[in-house]
Amino acid sequence: MTTRVVGLDGDDTLWHSEGHYITTTERLGELLAPYLDDDGSDLDHARAVQHLTEVERRNLARFGYGVKAFTLSMIETAVEVSGARVSASEIQRILDWSKELLDHPVELIEGVQETVDRLAGSYQLLLVTKGDLLHQESKVARSGLVERFESVHIVSEKDPATYNRVLAGTGVAPQEFVMVGNSVRSDVLPVLELGARAVHVPYHTTWALETVEGELPAEAAHLDRIDELPEFLEST
Ligand SMILES: [Mg+2]
Repeated sequence: MTTRVVGLDGDDTLWHSEGHYITTTERLGELLAPYLDDDGSDLDHARAVQHLTEVERRNLARFGYGVKAFTLSMIETAVEVSGARVSASEIQRILDWSKELLDHPVELIEGVQETVDRLAGSYQLLLVTKGDLLHQESKVARSGLVERFESVHIVSEKDPATYNRVLAGTGVAPQEFVMVGNSVRSDVLPVLELGARAVHVPYHTTWALETVEGELPAEAAHLDRIDELPEFLEST
């Protein structure tokens, strides 16, 4: 069966995302470093950032993905790292950063517009993305790409059961589906498990909790840039 339907991930596949989180994490590190040591050194900064990753990891199953989960984990990190000394005005700063993240303009990754335009002429396109429902809806709307997609699926986890539900709901067989995204953990492995194809298009940076050990499975394809996708799909 040939590929008829292409699934595309949103964050760090179609538009920039992780860089904004990294900038905010750096700000939190600067805010909290003085609580760890009087000199606020780089080492203290790194410890604060590492603590945030640990808090995010333990909160993931409860809070899920997205800016609001990230914000709660930043506040929890601030309370823990400061030994409950963090001030209300510092918590307010964290909330302000969170609003900046939510309001940030959607910046498409280079080549995305042309690629999506071209793919839409030959394939049915599905957007499959996870995170805060409201924020993802807003990003999809602001991306200018929404009309190219047959359907948009904002999910709370990208596992085989979720992909199975999306495919069953849209009447797509795994053999005619290919998923394209920057995360091996979310966009590649669960899709391969269903017997569909997957194309990994890495972003220059990956969130610690999205990284997986080991190499890309042999069944998955790898492209350096998303604009290589139309030719790749035509040739395979
Ligand atoms: Mg992504």
